Amino acid sequence: MRAIDKGLALLGHKGAVVWMTGLSGAGKTTISTALEERLTDAGILSHVLDGDVLRTGLCSGLGFTEHDRNENIRRAACAAIILAKAGLVSVCSLISPLKSQRDMARRMCEESGVPFIECYVSAPLDECERRDVKGLYARARAGDIPNFTGITAPYEPPDNPEVVLDTQFGLVAECVGELLLNVRRMVQVEV
Ligand code: ADP
Repeated sequence: MRAIDKGLALLGHKGAVVWMTGLSGAGKTTISTALEERLTDAGILSHVLDGDVLRTGLCSGLGFTEHDRNENIRRAACAAIILAKAGLVSVCSLISPLKSQRDMARRMCEESGVPFIECYVSAPLDECERRDVKGLYARARAGDIPNFTGITAPYEPPDNPEVVLDTQFGLVAECVGELLLNVRRMVQVEV
């Protein structure tokens, strides 16, 4: 039996990769963490792969050039696929600014037979900058952080993501609820 089918038999749900993309401060971490809790409550095993955390281990040594960002995303997708093949829902929370990078992650999943959900966590730049959760926008504006997405590096919004969450006007609970529904439809035989 393939690992992905074993997961279905043992856990009662399929594995999948949920790819959260959006500007820094858009709400990826907040929603990913809450989604993990809601999935646990629903009996669905999941794990969050957070871009900042990955950069301290698996992706340490990589910077923010386009080449390094591509490699960062390739490694994250590899790790996410391993977890998904073991039956988990891997929630990848990475800015992943370019369409080509997200398409690469999608292609890698497709080639591995792993369902892929692209979730665009959408908030305008001025709102993210107003939140400035980690103080990074202020530092980027001061010229302290080169290649900062939205300020000195591009962010390309997805054309056709499976899910779009508007975090400027939507409440966290509403956004998480909508994503949860989409994930459950994808990984559970019956919802
Ligand atoms: P990111 O991981 O994308 O950099 P964070 O999750 O760290 O973003 O920060 C998002 C901030 O926006 C948090 O302070 C969060 O409370 C706030 N916020 C307001 N509305 C929402 C929403 N609907 N969804 C997610 N975060 C929201």
